[in-house]
Parts: sequence; structure tokens; C-alpha cells
Amino acid sequence: MNLNEQQRRAYLEAIGIDVWVPRGEAEAEAEIEVQEDAPEVVADDLDWGALREKVSACTSCSLHQTRTQTVFGVGDPNADWMLIGEAPGAEEDRRGEPFVGRSGQLLDQMLAAIGQSRDSVFIANIIKCRPPNNRDPKPEEASACRSYLERQIAIVNPRIIIAVGKISAQNLLGTDAPVGRMRGKRHSFGDVPLVVTYHPAYLLRSPSQKRKSWDDLCLARDIVRESLA
Ligand code: URA
Repeated sequence: MNLNEQQRRAYLEAIGIDVWVPRGEAEAEAEIEVQEDAPEVVADDLDWGALREKVSACTSCSLHQTRTQTVFGVGDPNADWMLIGEAPGAEEDRRGEPFVGRSGQLLDQMLAAIGQSRDSVFIANIIKCRPPNNRDPKPEEASACRSYLERQIAIVNPRIIIAVGKISAQNLLGTDAPVGRMRGKRHSFGDVPLVVTYHPAYLLRSPSQKRKSWDDLCLARDIVRESLA
């Protein structure tokens, strides 16, 4: 089996083994300044262009110190479907676009299966900057970014939100329930129906779960159709 470094760490974490982080990376993370006086983000009156600009200049949490660029999102700001993932990874940080790595390719295939594409939906993440070493976003990072995401949702005003993966679903639904318990049901974020599904990175590791993700997308499609009828 040829595991890359990220997969190796995810695998070790999943089976409960402390993950060894090369000295350079651990030191780099330790050097990141903790930001205690971060200005509160207020984005509720911004239009799309102003919001994008505000995100790109954001210094509200310490992730701005290590990012290459912010990852605002991609797609149609008037989309019926809004997909929300977790956080940019290395490739997303480099290219400024969400889901462009291997899991992005699978996400594109999943979208194609329901007749959508990354141009016809809007794809965003819970946070707009890459966490160092691709660790999970910290609660304070998610809350620093929350106002941006809420404004994006308000402007897009989608017919459905798909929470892609655990971090997204837990943040949007304010719970620590596992994905297996949240998926397959209709939830809501404010007035917007929300469906939870597995993260494509998980599906790449556990392809037998793809069938369940397909069921989740079909549920979402039914909700959209119902809202159009
Ligand atoms: N995983 C995510 O959740 N978001 C991305 O943008 C890339 C990978």
C-alpha cells in the first residue's frame, strides 16, 4: 500500500496512535502567534464583491500568518445547491479554490451524477484559510470565519445546503454527533434545508460508503425538486 503523508497521519489518528510530526513543522506551528485581540468580523451588510475583498484581507485569526491566500469559494453565487466542506488543504491554499485535490475530483464526479457541476453550485468551506499541517480547524478559527460563511449563505440563498463531512456538519448543526448519525436525514440551517454526507476524502478511503453518499445526494435532489414544484 502506498500511503501519502496525509493519509498516513489520518490513518494513525483513526486508530488512536499519536501522530509524529516532523520537527520543522511542529516548530513552525509553535511559532504561530496566538491572536488574542482579533477584531470581531461583521459581514452582514456586505455585497458579494465587498465580502470577497474583506475575506481576502482577513487577519481575524492566526491562520492568516501561514496561508498563501484565502479560499473564498467557487461557483454560482445564485446557485440552488451550496456545498460546504471543512477547510482548504495544501493544493487549495496554493490555487485559491476549494476541493481541487483528489477529493475534489471525486466531489466533481458526485456532482456530475446529480446533473450539477462546480459552476452550477456554490462550494465553500467552514474556514477560508488552510490550517497548518491540514489539522482540523480550531473552534476559535471556525467562529472567526462564521460571519463570512453566514453572509455567503444569505447571499446565495440556496434551496439546499450539503454539509460535506464531519467538521462541516458539526459546525453547521452545532453538535458533536458522528456523520453516520446525521446523514440520511433532512436538517436545516436557519430556513435552508440541509443534508449531511460523507467527505470525499473519507469515501476515497472507504469506497463501500459511496452508496450512502449517493442516497444523501438523492435526498437533497428530492428536497430541491419539492421546493421547485
Ligand atoms: N477538503 C475540504 O473540506 N475542503 C477543501 O476545500 C478541500 C478539501
